[in-house]
Amino acid sequence: MTGSLPKLIDPLEFVERKKRIQGSIPLAGMTRLGDTVLNSAGQVSLDLSFAREGRHAVISGHIKTDLILECQCCLEPMVWPVASDLRLGIVSSLDEADCLPDSLEPFLLSGDDRVSLDELVEDELLLSIPPVPQHSGCVSLAERPVDPSRSPFAALAQWRGNT
Ligand SMILES: [Zn+2]
Repeated sequence: MTGSLPKLIDPLEFVERKKRIQGSIPLAGMTRLGDTVLNSAGQVSLDLSFAREGRHAVISGHIKTDLILECQCCLEPMVWPVASDLRLGIVSSLDEADCLPDSLEPFLLSGDDRVSLDELVEDELLLSIPPVPQHSGCVSLAERPVDPSRSPFAALAQWRGNT
């Protein structure tokens, strides 16, 4: 299945039919990303396969996008590439989740069989966003580290050393 993707999916039905979905969905529908993500016009490309692995119903595949976040150091936009592989084991209870192998993250399916594809992808994106986004090596004026040899404490230590 490529091109336009369903809004709602029935993961267990997809597993039974060994479906694979490929395509892209807009970031715009993902309200929980809120103000964290500056490029709400962006798209997330995804490739997800549904299959049974032994006793487990598994969603596996990857999602890929570039999020624009605000660097918490200089407050300028920064590109945050997301390319995550996911392996989710569909469970209906926390007890079942405990029985999953370590290689599978639990995906809790509640009473309603249908799941919003947006929300599934949004959950993965939320996990990939760092708690404090920052350009690598970004140093704002406020947080520029003090040269230890010029700090008042170093001067004091030197003064003590001389006496
Ligand atoms: Zn920065």
